[in-house]
Amino acid sequence: MLTRHRGNFQWDDVAVLAYKEEGTHFKNITRQVLFDGLADVPCQLRYFEIEPAGYSTLEQHQHVHLVIILRGQGDVLLGQHIHHVAQNDVIAIPPHTWHQFQATGEDSLGFLCLVNQERDKALRPTEDELHLLCEIPKIAAFIRS
Ligand code: MN
Repeated sequence: MLTRHRGNFQWDDVAVLAYKEEGTHFKNITRQVLFDGLADVPCQLRYFEIEPAGYSTLEQHQHVHLVIILRGQGDVLLGQHIHHVAQNDVIAIPPHTWHQFQATGEDSLGFLCLVNQERDKALRPTEDELHLLCEIPKIAAFIRS
């Protein structure tokens, strides 16, 4: 099984999909599914791309993300910390950890994200959780929701 890169972060026979089906809690982001599980690797490998000024949903869930940055630069909220990330950085997002990716700079932020095929649904913060997060000024300034 070969999924051939055909240039510019697109792969043969892989559709460029909407990030999520609906919502206004994310911006300028696409999803491609490069691998959808086989035998003893019950994982999905997705490629996400966030255009400049775009961002992913602020969310948390039980399942883990393993992220590898392929292009561009961005900032990621991980729990109570904001990290700058760039090409070849590897980011493990543990269970129940608030996270949000934002593209910074002039190039798109593109990253691989590995997840289990069977996973729980992402949860967005409640009003109370959002208030708690926003007690930390740098987080209040960062998050988009
Ligand atoms: Mn997530």
